[in-house]
Parts: sequence; structure tokens; C-alpha cells
Amino acid sequence: MAKLVDTTTGTSDLKRARHTAARHGAGSVIGSSLPPSDVGTAQSVNPADKATVVTIGVLALQGDFAEHAHMLQSCGAKTKLVRRAAELDGIDGLVIPGGESTTIAKLTGNTTDPLFDAIIERAKDGMPVYGTCMGMIFLAREIEGSEQGRLALMDITVRRNAFGPQIASREEHVAIDELGAEPFPAVFIRGPIILGCAPHVQVYSKVAEGIVMCRQNNLLATAFHPEITDDLRVHQYFVKMVRKYACVRV
Ligand code: GLN
Repeated sequence: MAKLVDTTTGTSDLKRARHTAARHGAGSVIGSSLPPSDVGTAQSVNPADKATVVTIGVLALQGDFAEHAHMLQSCGAKTKLVRRAAELDGIDGLVIPGGESTTIAKLTGNTTDPLFDAIIERAKDGMPVYGTCMGMIFLAREIEGSEQGRLALMDITVRRNAFGPQIASREEHVAIDELGAEPFPAVFIRGPIILGCAPHVQVYSKVAEGIVMCRQNNLLATAFHPEITDDLRVHQYFVKMVRKYACVRV
């Protein structure tokens, strides 16, 4: 039996997962009717925005943090790997990568470093945070059937492993109006979906199983993994959120 991916292990496995997902075929594309956001589409870059050099932290406790850092750098941001609360100093935004939420949940009980409390504080203060897959689960207020540790920052209810086991990983081109007309290659690897969200959460994309991208003010979440594609648009979008926050803050 073919060995599929463990998203906690890093680059090569993730790349292999994408190829495996592609082989399993794409499903149908279901678009969504989206409210306009304050950052515009990824293509409509404001030159003034581009001049703002921001530093974006990538939570590097597990998962594919290196791929996120690479994508963010390709979008013109500086990056900093974050493993401790003190390393949040000097960052303008934070990415929480995919991985395994039950693993990171165990770390929430670790009282030796106030990393998660510090992330919650910065996020509540307006710092943009983007969670992919496990990161989205970790941001959610409700996880269906689970009391596992989480940041509980986004008013969404998620279902873990909503696409089935590793073998059901897949790539599907999804409509995301915020990113322009071209569908986005969304890679789902033991991905969650959003079952429901509060009215102040903007739904950016849906597939047959449910909502797969949303935004709540400074918080952005995708059930899929843009960092293992060649498409920079989700990261560009997040970098623009961070630039806007950095401009307002100074
Ligand atoms: N299924 C994993 C979880 O529940 C998430 C997988 C991922 O991040 N790719 O945490």
C-alpha cells in the first residue's frame, strides 16, 4: 500500500502529498458570493503597500513552516520562525501552519513559556494571524466533538478530517473571488471544514463538504495548503493584510 503523507514531517512528504492528491482527481468547484474586503484582490497591489516591509512570524513547532516562510519571502515579506513568546516581538503578523492539531493541543498545557497566551493577546490587539488546516483548527472556537486545546480566536465551528483519511487527500480548484477570477488550486490533506460561523465571519470559499476559507477581521483561515502550490495569491493576500496593519500601527 502506498505510503501517503504525514503533514507533520516536512517538505518532501508534503510535495508528495500534493502529487498524490492530484492523482486522486479534483472534485466539483462551488463558488461563493463574497463580500468585498478591505485589502482588495491579490492582483490589485497598491504600490504604497509594496513599500511597507513587514516581518511575518511563522509558528515553527511542527508542520510545514519552511514552505510558508518561503512563500511569504516570495511575496516580499521578511520572516521569523517563532517557537517562544519572546519571538513574537518585532513581528507584524503570524502564520500557523498545517500539522496535527492534537499534537499542538498538548502543548497548550505547557506552562513553561506563555507562547499561546501571547499569540492570543497579539491577535486580540489586531495583529493578523493566518491559520492553514491544523492552524485553522487551532484558531477555531469550536471543534466538533472535541475539547482539545485551541486558541479559540475565530467564531467558527470546524470538523477535523472532513475529507476522510490521508488516502482521500485531493486537489480541487476552488473559486475565491477575493483572489481574482482564476480558481485557486486548493490542496486538502486530512483537511478540516468549517461547519458554521458567526455572522461577522466572511466566507471566502466553499466546496461540497463545507466552507474552506474565511476571514474574521484580522484573522484568516484556509482548510487547504497554499504553501505547497506555486500560487502565491493567498500569501499575497495575507501579506497585504499585514502591511495594512503595520501602516495603521505606526
Ligand atoms: N487532520 C489534522 C488535524 O486534525 C490536520 C491536517 C493538516 O494540517 N494537514 O489536526
